[in-house]
Amino acid sequence: MATSSEQKINFCEVCTKLLEESGHGVLPLTEIEAMKGKIASFEQSTTDYNTGTKLLIRRDLELSRANEKLQKLDETKSNFISIVAHQLRTPLSGVKWTLSMLLSGDMGPLNNDQKTFLMKSYESNARMITLVNDMLIADGIQSGKVHYGFKHIDIVDLMDNVLFEVSPQALKRHISINYKNKFKNLPQAYVDPETMRAVLQNLLENAIKYTIEGGKIEIDVKVENDQLLVSITDNGIGIPKDQVKEIFTKFFRARNAVKQETDGSGLGLYIAKTIVEKNGGKIWFDSVVGEGSTFYFTVPLQENH
Ligand code: ADP
Repeated sequence: MATSSEQKINFCEVCTKLLEESGHGVLPLTEIEAMKGKIASFEQSTTDYNTGTKLLIRRDLELSRANEKLQKLDETKSNFISIVAHQLRTPLSGVKWTLSMLLSGDMGPLNNDQKTFLMKSYESNARMITLVNDMLIADGIQSGKVHYGFKHIDIVDLMDNVLFEVSPQALKRHISINYKNKFKNLPQAYVDPETMRAVLQNLLENAIKYTIEGGKIEIDVKVENDQLLVSITDNGIGIPKDQVKEIFTKFFRARNAVKQETDGSGLGLYIAKTIVEKNGGKIWFDSVVGEGSTFYFTVPLQENH
């Protein structure tokens, strides 16, 4: 007859299996004790597993709540930025208007010193307007407030348009801007013209800003893998290798750029990247410090997003 502990073991599923494996109906006491130990540790593991699962569920819930809170905070921050930026825009435009009136001599003649100082104020004010606008655009594209109206357009026409606007900055610093080809029979791009204009403007302004006096900028557009590949090459200051990864991050400015050009928000490339991707393309660059940079981006020919 089996002992009580043997009976208990025979009822246990784990033990039954072990008994079958060992080929014995009844096990010696030492093995029964060993099995008891195994059962206890198995029971402990099950308890630990259950506790772990409960903890995970609780943690998951906490994370979801934290995420919701962060989303709400992000929304509040976004509203705050947009209110402040809008509020700033009005007085800044007022200052711009007053300064341009003074500069044009509407309030009486100015001597050269007065003109120089007023011109500096005018330029600083214009930079603040640009910064505020950049903040509004960055916030708009991040929070999904920007509307994209995709259609077929000639990207070189759009480039010509932007070039017309930025060429005074290039002329001032004797920087030449040329197209690499004549671009005959280029297919149309399928993009949102308004946001795409901002991308071209940012990239061209950067190429001008970060190129030394008398430098060269070359633009190329070609078809590659059923897309248009646009590139803008300059022979400017380049981007330090150890800062390459951060270039498209919001508010980031490389150390050589800060040294040479104190103005800049560090928002332009973040905006450009977000817009290019929303338009269904990709953006990247090659750069060598002291030699120059090429920024590339692709745009689709048809709807692909
Ligand atoms: P910003 O020009 O206002 O600083 P961006 O977001 O447009 O901001 O650019 C981020 C940084 O990337 C710049 O501060 C600069 O360090 C680097 N950068 C962008 N374009 C160029 C370029 N063509 N040549 C060298 N550095 C560049």
